Amino acid sequence: MKFGIDIGHNCPPRDIGASGIKKEDDLTKDVGNRLINKLKAAGHTVINCTPASASSVNDSLRKRVNTANNNNVDIFVSIHFNAFQPTNNPRGSEVFAISNAARGIAQPVLKEIVALGFKDRGVKNTAFYVLRNTSMPAILVECCFVDSQADMDLFDAEKMAEAITVGLIGESNDTPTPQPATLRITTKTILKPSTDDSGNLDPATLVDIETGDYPVLDSRFEERHFWVKWPDKSKANRDEHFVFEEFAELIES
Ligand SMILES: [Zn+2]
Repeated sequence: MKFGIDIGHNCPPRDIGASGIKKEDDLTKDVGNRLINKLKAAGHTVINCTPASASSVNDSLRKRVNTANNNNVDIFVSIHFNAFQPTNNPRGSEVFAISNAARGIAQPVLKEIVALGFKDRGVKNTAFYVLRNTSMPAILVECCFVDSQADMDLFDAEKMAEAITVGLIGESNDTPTPQPATLRITTKTILKPSTDDSGNLDPATLVDIETGDYPVLDSRFEERHFWVKWPDKSKANRDEHFVFEEFAELIES
């Protein structure tokens, strides 16, 4: 797997994170770097999507998205910490995701963080810029609140990074083995890139696929779609796609 890890903010003076009992910039960097090392140690490729500098918040966000898209990462993960000044004393963890594929990644990550003792604030679907504009399943993790004493007492960067790692790749350190299969397209169809946001799709990215058998490298079934990874980019110039179940049948090899 190729992960795009985005360490939130950390682009002074324009894009700096929240400040509370601790600074979001310090915590995202600590958790993000540990996460990167853990994913690499487990045999995954990691692209650090955090820009070295940015002239504005928009420039900062655009650079993160461009790095993920240009490197064709499989999964994009943005690390943040919440703040809710000045009052109400909220605490806990939440993960944002705006597609079915991304929600399927967000849920286990949140579950692992909550298992550390943080309050479960749920998987939410606010369409943040980095979720909207990345062309692969993307999640934004709000680890916990930098202005909550309870959260900051509980927070440990190593445990947080480990929880996110386990949520992303599971307990095992083994690289997931692709499950080769054949996708039988039974009705001429278009293939849908890895997003649910079909309203914004560039028609040029949709491609007619004739009926027939197509080899795939890796596949999963998610809510009425097959997710397939092709051996090459000859299909719509992308190497992964969702295909609606009514148009296809997956034959495991
Ligand atoms: Zn943030």
